[in-house]
Parts: sequence; C-alpha cells; structure tokens
Amino acid sequence: MRDQARVVVIGGGIAGCSALYHLTQEGWTDVMLIERDELTSGTTWHSAAQVTNFGMTQTMVGLKTHSINLYKELRDDPEYPVGYNYGDGGIRLANTAEQMDGYRHFASVAAGMGVEFEVIDAEECARRHPLISTDNLLGGLWDPTDGHIDPAQLCQALARRARLAGAEVNRHTPVTGLTQHADSTWTVHTEKGDVKCEIVVNAGGYRCNEIGAMMGVQHPVASMEHQYFLTEDIPAIAEAGHRIPLLRCPISDYYSRQEKGGLLLGFYEQDCRTWGMDGIDPHFTNALCPDDLERVTDVLEGAFERMPALMETGIREIVNGPITYTIDGAPLVGPIPGKRNAYCIIGLRAGLGEGGGHGWLLAQQIVHGEAQYDTWVIDPRRFTGHATVELTALKAIEDYQNEFRFHFPHEHRPAGRPMKTTPLTTVLVAEGAEMGTVNGWERVDYIKPTPDFKETLGFRFNEVHDVVAAEVKAVSTGVGMTEVSGFNRFELTGHDVHSFLDRMFCGTVTKRAGRVGLGYLLNDHGLLKGEATVANLPASDRGPERVWYGSAAASEFHDMDWLQSHLRADEDVTITSLTNSQTILVLAGPKARDVLAAASRGDWSREAFPWLSVRETHIGIAPATVLGVSFSGELAYEIHVPNENLHAAYAALRKAGQAHDLRLFGARAVDSMRVEKGFLHWKADILTEFDPFETALDRFVKLDKGDFIGKAALLKRVKDGPQVKLVTLAIDTEDAPAHGGASVWYDGAIVGTVTSGDWGHRTGLNLAYAFVNPDLAQVDTALTVDVIGAPVSARVIATGPYDPSYARMRA
Ligand SMILES: Cc1cc2nc3c(=O)[nH]c(=O)nc-3n(C[C@H](O)[C@H](O)[C@H](O)COP(=O)(O)OP(=O)(O)OC[C@H]3O[C@@H](n4cnc5c(N)ncnc54)[C@H](O)[C@@H]3O)c2cc1C
Repeated sequence: MRDQARVVVIGGGIAGCSALYHLTQEGWTDVMLIERDELTSGTTWHSAAQVTNFGMTQTMVGLKTHSINLYKELRDDPEYPVGYNYGDGGIRLANTAEQMDGYRHFASVAAGMGVEFEVIDAEECARRHPLISTDNLLGGLWDPTDGHIDPAQLCQALARRARLAGAEVNRHTPVTGLTQHADSTWTVHTEKGDVKCEIVVNAGGYRCNEIGAMMGVQHPVASMEHQYFLTEDIPAIAEAGHRIPLLRCPISDYYSRQEKGGLLLGFYEQDCRTWGMDGIDPHFTNALCPDDLERVTDVLEGAFERMPALMETGIREIVNGPITYTIDGAPLVGPIPGKRNAYCIIGLRAGLGEGGGHGWLLAQQIVHGEAQYDTWVIDPRRFTGHATVELTALKAIEDYQNEFRFHFPHEHRPAGRPMKTTPLTTVLVAEGAEMGTVNGWERVDYIKPTPDFKETLGFRFNEVHDVVAAEVKAVSTGVGMTEVSGFNRFELTGHDVHSFLDRMFCGTVTKRAGRVGLGYLLNDHGLLKGEATVANLPASDRGPERVWYGSAAASEFHDMDWLQSHLRADEDVTITSLTNSQTILVLAGPKARDVLAAASRGDWSREAFPWLSVRETHIGIAPATVLGVSFSGELAYEIHVPNENLHAAYAALRKAGQAHDLRLFGARAVDSMRVEKGFLHWKADILTEFDPFETALDRFVKLDKGDFIGKAALLKRVKDGPQVKLVTLAIDTEDAPAHGGASVWYDGAIVGTVTSGDWGHRTGLNLAYAFVNPDLAQVDTALTVDVIGAPVSARVIATGPYDPSYARMRA
C-alpha cells in the first residue's frame, strides 16, 4: 500500500468503486480506494440491483442515463463483460388519477433529457406484463430501459478499469481514524499503516457514520432493514416467451423483476425497522439480517392480488439487508458541510441504478469544483442543523413506507414535525395557518378558510387556488402580514467586509450605511452559485457598522461554506449566523406603511425611508430591524426580530393593523406574486448550470468593476454567447400550472425546460419561467409547453408583467 495519494476513497461498494473509476476518468489517477473487507461486502453484494431511468428531476434522470450508458459499455467489454439485463422494460403502476398525472409530468421531464417513457393504460400494462391483473389499476409509466445488473461484477469492472488507469485498490484494510492537518490535507489511519492525502471521500455505506465520527461529523443517514425473496419457477413466465418487465407498485409497496424462471419480489412494508441505530457489529460483513416475512404480510397480499400466480409459487430464498436512507430519500453526494477537502457519496437507497451517475457527478465536483448538472438535489448541504440522527430515522421510516409514492406539489409529509419552530408557530396555527416546512422550519403555506379545510394533493389547481386568490387580493388592495421563518442571515463584521463582498458578488454591492442591495455570487466557471440581500446596518447601540447577508432558508450551510472557503487569511471579516436567533415578519400591501408607522416611532415616509433602506427600530416594545424590500411586488417591509421578542412585535403589528383590516397570508400567495413580478427562486430558477446573463439577471452584473469570483470565465462565456435564455411564459390553460422540469416545444422539437410556474392572480395569467433556446426568447414567440404531459400553447412575455414600472414597490 502506498503511503500517499491525492484522493482516498473509503469503502468498496458501488459508491466507492464508481467514485474511484470516475476520478480516473476526469483525469485524476493518483487515487486510492481502501476497503475494510472484500469489495461489495457491504450492502452491494445482495442488492436486487434494478436499474431504472426514472427520476423526478432532470438531474436524477440525467445521472441515471449516465449509469445506464456506462453499464451497457461494461456489458459489451470483451475483456471483462458484466452481466446486465438491459431493456426488460418496467412499469410503475397507478390506481389514482393524481398518480397518472404525476407520471405524465415525469415523462415530460425525462423527454427533456432525451429519455422516452410512455404512460399506458391498465390493459396495456397487462398486455406487457402477462402475470398481472387489471383490478384496481388505472395504468402506469413504462420505462423501456429498465433492467438489472450483477452488482459484484459491476464493482469489479469499475475497480479493474480504475486500476488500469493508475488507481490503487486496497482490500482487507479497515480505516481506523482520520486526522486533518492545518493545511487541510488528511492522514488516513488504517490497520495497515497511514496514507497522506489531499482529499478524503466517505463511501462507507451503512457504516458512513463510523467514518463520519472519525472527522467529527454526524451524517443525516439512517439504515432500514429491507427484504426481498426469490420464488421457484413460475410456468407463466416460461410461457410468455419473453422476459417479464419489472414492476413497482405504489398501491401495495412492492417491486418485482424476473430472476431466472421465477420472480424476485421486494417489499416496503409499513411495519418497517431501522437498523444499526445503536452501533453495528464490527463482524457484520457479507452478512444479512434475520428474515422476517411476518411483517410484510400486508404488502404481500397486494402483490398476490396483482399477480395471482404467486399464490401457487414457493419461495426459494429470502434476503434481508440494511439499506441507507436520508431525510428526503435522495443521497448525499458532494462536499461535507463545515469541512475542507472532504466529500461523501452516502445514503444511497438505489445505489446500483444510480451509483454510476453519482460517482460521475462526485468526481466532477472534486476535480472541477462543480458538476455538469446542478447537484442541489443530492447536495449534502441541503439539510442543516435540524438533520439530527433522530429526525433522520423518522424521515427514513416515512420515506421507506412511501417508497414508490412520489411527493405531490406542495406536499409536506408529517414525520419529524414540528422540528424547527418560532415563538409564533402555535399562534399562527391557532389563527388557522396550514403549515409547510422549509429546511425543517414550519412556515405558513396559507390560512385555511375553515378549520376542517383540506387540500386535495395533485398536479392541477385545486381548492387552495381560491384561498390564495383571496390572500393576494388582501395584500394588493390593503395590507397583509406573514412570517418567514428560517430565512438565512449572516452578520459580517470587520474592516474588509465590503472588499470581500465585492470579490464574492458579480455586481455592485452597496456600501452605504442604511442601504440594501441584491446581488449574485458566481463560481469559478462564471455560473450562478448564490443569491443574497446585503443590508448595511449603521453603527448603533446594538453593535458596530455591520452587514447582514440574507439568503434562502436552505442555503445556510451552502453559503457559509462558500463564503468561509473564500476568506483570505489576512482578511478582517467575521461571519456569524443569526439564522436561528431572528425571524422575519413581512408587511406587504399599499397600507403597509400605515401599519408600520402606527406600530413604530419615527418617520416612515417615502422620503425618510425609501425602498431599499434599512433601519434599526422598535416595533411596539420589540427591538427590530426593518428592510424596505419586497418579494410580492407591493410596498413591503421585512421586519427582522430576535425570536425572544417576536411575539411582542407580532402583537404590536396585529394591533396596529386592526384599523387597516390587516390579513395574514402565506408562502403560496408569495409564490404566485413573485412570478408575476419577475422574481426568481434559488435552486428552482437560479441554477449552477447557467450564468447570470442566461438567467436574465443582466442588471446585477458589472463586468467593468474589479476582479470577482468567476469573472474571467464569465467574460469568456459572454464572448461565446448564451446557450439558453430564461423567459417568462403565459400559458393558455386554467387547469394546472406548468411544473418545474416540464418540456417546452417549438416546431415539434424540445427547445427548453420549465423551472417553476404558478397562477398570477393579479394579472390573471398562468405564468412560468423556462430556459429556452436563445433564438426563441423574444417576446411574443409562440411556444408549446407540456402541462401534465399535454401540449398547451404558450407565449413569451416580458418578465414581471405586474406593475412593470415598480411604482407600487417604491410607493
Ligand atoms: C435488499 C436490498 C435490495 C436492493 N435493491 C436495489 C435495487 O434493486 N436497485 C438499486 O439500485 N439499489 C438497490 N438496493 C440498494 C443498493 O444495494 C445500495 O444503495 C448500494 O449497494 C449501496 O452501496 P454503497 O457503496 O453505498 O454501500 P456498501 O455496499 O455498503 O459499501 C460500503 C463499503 O464501505 C466499506 N467500509 C465501511 N467502513 C469502512 C472502513 N472503516 N474502512 C474501510 N472500508 C469501510 C464496507 O465494508 C463496504 O464494502 C438494495 C438494497 C437492499 C438491502
């Protein structure tokens, strides 16, 4: 074993082998894999190893396409061919109209990535899968690429190719400790000696938290026991004369695929179990958990009803093994929050199908700083302080129980809630608020018109449409108030704050005390990394002159890492997070000033406190910091209040609002209003795949200022011309919004993708943002958008159709 390598990957399952191989493919060959036992001796060896192209976002579809193409290449390698049953085809079943809507939308998402799915009816499902009955079945989604692979051969093939490229693979070498040095390099301690390296990668599967503990990290990953069995031969399979497609059933939570002349049947039972929560036996290797078919009886009955032939078939073998889950079901692939030179590829619950793609995107991040797709859906920094092991376990159970039941738009599942609350949460719930969650924070979605009001989840406009319409009307004609919990807020102090921010932002950063600005941060490729509000707080009895950096709730760890990693050793800047100690109350509407003035001393006139101002003050008796900014397009104030004073500020504003019929509103109304106003959402519309010019943020870039992160790359991109342009579309239907990921068409070809959409209640327009081919970005261009998979005519309109002169916000 060498004592030095540029990267050490810990773990030799599919995650580690794929990461190692892809690092060599990206040009880094001084890399090493260290495995405590044999390759694939963790979860990988006993995996059902199904490989599907299905995903709910373009990134997931794209990375699975990479897996499939790679696996086909490995299958066809004459020197080491891997057993891969590609193209058996697979059906995801549905028995509700809402599930069918989802499949139609996901088929459109896949089409944008060059992947063709079909949505088929129940009879067609039965025609393609000769074992199934059509009882209680509406239809399904057909994935023609579906199949399965030999997991051990796959890992050996990847390790073999990596070795041929120069990588070293060390088996039977447990990693026992990790030491990070002052220059951020590492020493990896193993039972066979130490290895010095620049970067470590945790690919430890269900032992990822043992490796995490060696660097002082608790990853939000929990393991579940997961069972499948193999049946004896089934005559109907032999009679079919072709391989039987895979099945995935959200009605009864099982999957099946052909295995020799019988079936492999796997279960996601409701009575499920976490595994290894209190430590894992060090001898658990190449091992399984005890069988327990008793607890899958509920699910098994559903499988019997769908495939009656199973009732006459014996069971040949049972497999029960640990499978890892995260808080939202997607893995953690990327930089470990709060650490330098440390990455992970863990929490994979479909690692055989996805592992090829995850290793590829991880290697790109390590070598180039960024992958070719926006990787937020798998970014380890998307969970923040709430991601405890206890919450992870609850969410893992919930996710396991809903394995094939995708989230509907606006669905916020109940496990692990409430996790993060403010002193107002219970007050707002008592006022009728329906709460959603953002990064673990309870946040008002809308105010229920009656206590028993219930939303029908789905992809079409539903009963909440009118509720939101009323909230928007109250805000735009009078005044509304909402709480924005968990908004990310850093306080920056020190002599070099402004020069530091100048380097981080691609545009002008306002430096004047008392003023507020919005800015964008780029990565080294000139692509969009972040969006933040900068407020310059003058020196006061609350502290010296300082800057508040505000950004999306979910960006807390991401932005902190990005800012910290760019701070130079000689720069006088201290960054402190205030995210958990302050909460925002938003007052919005033409009468917002009247309410503010009634609740707070001082001159709040337009002249004394114009748009984009910041002032420290009191709301009633509560100390507060008021920003004159608006996300709704109405005159609005963000009122930042320490949590211990939040109730007092709320009470004062409610009292002052009585004379003006102040109404509460929620995030759904904000979403509708912000699309009408041309405002974007980070990680929905603002993606690392595109630069600020492509994202229609030209006015926030200042190419003639001094150097800033990403400037050289951006200048080159400007010279090369845009690849896409973000446009606003008005869509010709009142039935449903265009959902993120839907395809945009022109002349029979896909020319773009929707990022987000919503109904604009003030303009009466069904609006969406989409990245399209730049030639088709002119106003009035007629395009076609898939709305739940069906083509609907749309028109490019000027962005921000509501109050284009900004008169209302500046009033
Ligand atoms: C019953 C079952 C069925 C499944 N079916 C499918 C399916 O159909 N399709 C699909 O895509 N996925 C499926 N999965 C999930 C899939 O198998 C996993 O996502 C995948 O195998 C995880 O791979 P991994 O490399 O992350 O972890 P592992 O395979 O567990 O690899 C981690 C490795 O790290 C090593 N390691 C740990 N600690 C150390 C240390 N300190 N030093 C050195 N090495 C260390 C371990 O020995 C191990 O080899 C299934 C899982 C189960 C349990």
